[in-house]
Amino acid sequence: MPHQIPVVAYLRLGDPPHLTSAACTRCGALYFDRRNACARCFATDFTTRSLANEGTLRAFTFVGRAKRPYVSSVVALDGGGVVKANLLGVDRPEQVTPGMRVVLDTFVAGVDDEGTEAIAFGYRPLDGAPGGGAENDHGGTR
Ligand SMILES: [Zn+2]
Repeated sequence: MPHQIPVVAYLRLGDPPHLTSAACTRCGALYFDRRNACARCFATDFTTRSLANEGTLRAFTFVGRAKRPYVSSVVALDGGGVVKANLLGVDRPEQVTPGMRVVLDTFVAGVDDEGTEAIAFGYRPLDGAPGGGAENDHGGTR
């Protein structure tokens, strides 16, 4: 098995892979980057919190200028946390609806000379979405 490293520190490649975030111990505000103080309440103590892998699509935009068009999205995770990431496995606007349920997925973003894989994450639609067709293509960003 090749050595793998996450492209961002808040992606943990456990079983299953999941996101973590710094949570303010006073007010519960969540931050993906390292903070010296909470922007909401100015407390300086944080704990690491594991975030849910499932969430709801809050906003999205199709980026068509890239060699391979992709969907940039904002996902509100169950139980708290809002994360910006690409939507995987969709290539047509009609496949995406606001409020649709999505789940975290990881993919190999690149491999260095030693064979170490850089692992990135995105979200893909959860199966069983109402009115969704059964056809499923293999994720577009690989
Ligand atoms: Zn706070």
